[in-house]
Amino acid sequence: MGPHARRSAAAGEALRDCHDVETALAEARKAHDRLHEAIDLLPQGIVFFDAEGRFILWNRKYAEIYNATSHMFRPGARFEDIVRAGVAKGCYPEAIGREEEWIAERMAQFAQPTNRREVTLTDGRCLLIEERATKDGGVVGLRVDITELKQREASFRLLFESNPVPMVVCEIDTERIVGANEAALAHYGYSREEFETLTIRDIQAFEPGVPWDGEHSVDERHARTWKHTKADGSLIDVAVYSRRLTFEERPAVLLALMDITERKRAEAHLAFAAQHDNLTGLANRALLCRQLDECLVHTRRNRKKVAVLFFNLDGFKAVNASRGHGIGDQLLVGVARRLQSVLREEDSIARLGSDEFAIVQSDVSRPEDAALLAQRLLGANSDPYVFDGHTVMCGASIGIAIGPGDGEDADKLLKNANMALSRAKSDGRGLFSFFEAGMDARAQERRRIEMELRAAIDGGVLRSHYQPLIDLKTGRVTGAEALVRWPHPARGMVSPAEFIPVAEETGLINPIGNLMLRRACMDAAGWPGDARVAVNLSPLQFRVGNLLAVVMDALKQSGLPPKRLELEITETLLLEKSDQVLATLHALRALGVRISMDDFGTGYSSLSYLRSFPFDKIKIDRSFVSDLAANQGAQAIVRSIISLGMSLGVTITAEGVETEAELGCLRAEGCHEGQGFLFSRARPNAEIVQLLAAQQTTCGVA
Ligand code: C2E
Ligand code: MG
Ligand code: MG
Repeated sequence: MGPHARRSAAAGEALRDCHDVETALAEARKAHDRLHEAIDLLPQGIVFFDAEGRFILWNRKYAEIYNATSHMFRPGARFEDIVRAGVAKGCYPEAIGREEEWIAERMAQFAQPTNRREVTLTDGRCLLIEERATKDGGVVGLRVDITELKQREASFRLLFESNPVPMVVCEIDTERIVGANEAALAHYGYSREEFETLTIRDIQAFEPGVPWDGEHSVDERHARTWKHTKADGSLIDVAVYSRRLTFEERPAVLLALMDITERKRAEAHLAFAAQHDNLTGLANRALLCRQLDECLVHTRRNRKKVAVLFFNLDGFKAVNASRGHGIGDQLLVGVARRLQSVLREEDSIARLGSDEFAIVQSDVSRPEDAALLAQRLLGANSDPYVFDGHTVMCGASIGIAIGPGDGEDADKLLKNANMALSRAKSDGRGLFSFFEAGMDARAQERRRIEMELRAAIDGGVLRSHYQPLIDLKTGRVTGAEALVRWPHPARGMVSPAEFIPVAEETGLINPIGNLMLRRACMDAAGWPGDARVAVNLSPLQFRVGNLLAVVMDALKQSGLPPKRLELEITETLLLEKSDQVLATLHALRALGVRISMDDFGTGYSSLSYLRSFPFDKIKIDRSFVSDLAANQGAQAIVRSIISLGMSLGVTITAEGVETEAELGCLRAEGCHEGQGFLFSRARPNAEIVQLLAAQQTTCGVA
């Protein structure tokens, strides 16, 4: 090969080399560009430095993060210079005031890159910095913008710390409380240090378990109620909501502890109020019916029976009217207490309405069990009540129904017990009475009587008969008692004992009473001589309020002198000790009318009534008179009533004198007057006129 050829070969080689270098360079550039493109896609900032701490390569995100100094970035630029420029611009808040020191520390870290670090820039951004040494002695650096993450963390922390709901974080493995917010500390009364030594079980009062699921990571949507203990030992009801989380790299659970003690109390209060009577705190009808139905189910199994006792005060309306509602309410509360005091634990009591109470007696074997309880209940109520110095007496009556026989369900049993109550009331107050199969029919009968009685009043059918009163010394007729008579087309003469109670229940007693007053005054005004006429008054006539006017009108219309009119009242009227009643009585007496105490000795405390009003006459009840011959006790009673009357200056009349023997006794004791079949039954007015006229003649007065 010639020199030329050699030369050209060398040149060719060089050329080829040159070409290779160029291709290689081009390849390298391409690779560099590709790397650039690739790292520019990264969401983190990335940067490469050589062993002298000079920039080699960085991506777009890195330049963005350090936008204050990025204009200085170029390959070969020194990291330290860039850091200094940043410090000079005040980019690093930690460096302010100690610039050189900070730069020295930073460069030391850069020289020995180890851990991750967080740094906050002056503009508020927060960076996670990670630097590693490369094999060639350089450094690769990563920058993650964690500003948002930090903000989220901070707001979560704030949400926890300043949440008004008490919250704790529990480590799942140890069950220890590893974090508690302010609300939890305040609510439970522990200091942070104390709280964070406890486990969740330490604050649970009874539950042995933990309020999160053992195996599965579940969020409890429906919170359960737990009893927790506070630091001071008090118990609270807590609804616990739980959510799994990781706390300091360990599985933990966040518990929100809602105190629902008040809510539970309010709920319990509402539930109580819905089932109880406000005034007495006793169960109401709804609750009693439920208890009764449950009891009935039970009796079907144990073959025992259940008794329903329907308790009702006698004359409660009058107490309310005369003493005021305040006393009325106190009376009801007092009655409730006394009734409760004689019940067994397993019996229940309810207030059904104004003065109506119902008692459910369970495990009844015989009707006598119910009768005994009824007696105890009436006994408990029989002593006077004293409120603010007022003495109140209010008798009561009880109706009893026994299930399942008298009714299969609560409604029917109550209805039948109520029916038995009406019977007890009409039999005489202060009694109890059992339901009987015929009572329904009797109730209908009463409704029929009411209708017919109304028609009889409107039709002017009612008559007045008169039963003479005899002076036991002289044998003369001193007067006569007006007794109402109802001639019934189908049933003959209907007894007032049968229809007066119906009339009192329905208010028909007022027209009847007024009619009797007018008729008696009119008839008596036509009697020869000056015999008195006695008229019975029902307590209800005092309640209407116009009794005085009715009496004055009857006297005026008839022209009968007031001293010839006698009004008979019973002890039930005075039971109420009402001022209005006493005022009316005094006003009547002031007119010159005489007031008699009828049926004396049958009431509660007869003697005390004698003190409350100056009666002109006492009529000894028939029951004592009919016992006179046989019963020494009755004799003693009659004797003492007579001597009492004498010392009070009151006329004593014996009712229901039927035999000569009775008359003999009464005479011997010095009784003033007698009335009874021995002398005469009640007769029509015409006969009384004849009788009195005959008496006038025999005495030679006519
Ligand atoms: P009362 O006021 O005690 O009247 C006496 C009752 O005893 C009358 O019954 C009379 O017939 C009856 N009686 C009289 N003597 C004897 C006797 O010797 N033996 C017996 N077993 N009974 C005798 P009556 O007429 O059936 O009246 C019953 C009750 O009805 C009366 O008892 C009275 O409380 C009431 N009553 C009658 N008329 C009226 C009235 O116009 N107004 C009011 N509010 N009540 C009246
Ligand atoms: Mg009478
Ligand atoms: Mg009488």
